[in-house]
Amino acid sequence: MAFEGLADRLQNTMAKIRGKGKVSEADVKEMMREVRLALLEADVNFKVVKDFIKRVSERAVGQEVMKSLTPGQQVIKVVKEELTILMGGEQSKIAVSNRPPTVIMMVGLQGAGKTTTTGKLANLLRKKYNRTPLLVAADIYRPAAIKQLETLGKQISMPVFSLGDQVSPVEIAKQAIAHAKEQHHDYVIIDTAGRLHIDENLMDELQQVKEISKPDEIFLVVDAMTGQDAVNVAGSFNEQLGLTGVVLTKLDGDTRGGAALSIRAVTNTPIKFVGLGEKLDALEAFHPERMASRILGMGDVLSLIEKAQTNVDADKAKELEQKMRTMSFTFDDFLDQLSQVRSMGPLDELIGMLPGANKVKGLKNVQVDEKQISHVEAIIKSMTTKEKEQPELMNASRKKRIAKGSGTSVQEVNRLLKQFEEMKKMMKQMTNMTKGKKKGGMKF
Ligand code: GDP
Repeated sequence: MAFEGLADRLQNTMAKIRGKGKVSEADVKEMMREVRLALLEADVNFKVVKDFIKRVSERAVGQEVMKSLTPGQQVIKVVKEELTILMGGEQSKIAVSNRPPTVIMMVGLQGAGKTTTTGKLANLLRKKYNRTPLLVAADIYRPAAIKQLETLGKQISMPVFSLGDQVSPVEIAKQAIAHAKEQHHDYVIIDTAGRLHIDENLMDELQQVKEISKPDEIFLVVDAMTGQDAVNVAGSFNEQLGLTGVVLTKLDGDTRGGAALSIRAVTNTPIKFVGLGEKLDALEAFHPERMASRILGMGDVLSLIEKAQTNVDADKAKELEQKMRTMSFTFDDFLDQLSQVRSMGPLDELIGMLPGANKVKGLKNVQVDEKQISHVEAIIKSMTTKEKEQPELMNASRKKRIAKGSGTSVQEVNRLLKQFEEMKKMMKQMTNMTKGKKKGGMKF
């Protein structure tokens, strides 16, 4: 997971000071030395670290901490606030033009994830904000970039405007915007031409595209794994084009976090979105405070709830509750529930959002066995409708057939049946408990 080393070190440092009834200047100094090392090791820009330490130290030996009743906790609060400020403070929203379409220009070097992010962003705009974006294939240099965007468009059933690779990106942008107006698209997302390195030709061309398309947003896509290089790239693009935001990709990898913590301070450009995987729904708005909270092991329950709200069907959840109450929960419901949880993202990522998750022994290194989950799905899918509804029918020959059909073993089938029975038992107990409480007239 991203930030792991940094999170570990900072959390250990914070644990030492948390319970202190008194915090001396020496304590603060000692702590700041550790925080400084942790940040430098996470590849945070040297000057950014220096300024950060200065600000936290000043506040930590100031009145707000020394006079408080819980100085240890107060110091941690200061660190969290300053980390949040470092990453941009408030969440930075995406522009909405009052003369649609809103034009977004995506820029970046090859391989950063620009084309993928263009698709992800369109998907997010539609799913979360109900928008109707038009994707524009203007990366005419990277072989296959146009085809890639067209494929992405198909996957999310969204139109892609393309004129092939023989027309200049400037002309493509111009015609695309006219087309979007005609077709009443409210967003236009232009996947511009990338290069392997920053060069004059690239910048000239991007400036021309900017001139003709008058974008409301210019998003630079950078790869978080490249650390300080990402920060330098952001600096150059910002100088030449005036960025309105950065999309930091590949934050699902084990990046040390330097780019996320330095970009805002060095380039004065906010991180607006983060890429968390190769799939088309793996793009999220960046919330500095939630990220600071995650780094300090305080969890990110808000993001978890949002994920549940966008991915879990409320009607289905209600139906499920009803089934639990009436004890008519079947294997099909079980499968349904499993797929809803899975649609929220990889399970280890979800676990990472729980407060203190990486402090719980065993949980931190938990390798959620996705294969085992697919086995469960396969087993349930191999059952007949009757078997799904009445597991008590299951005898040796049925189990054998199911194991064979799902490519698993009889032991695995047995294990699942047992788990399902236990779950039903638990539901029964819960239902009885609530009934009991109701009789007693208790509020709950
Ligand atoms: P472009 O040259 O900048 O347009 O880059 P692409 O969009 O083709 O992406 C390059 C590679 O990075 C592809 O294999 C993508 O699947 C992958 N990629 C993009 N964003 C992410 C991300 O957030 N996480 C991960 N793990 N991979 C990503």
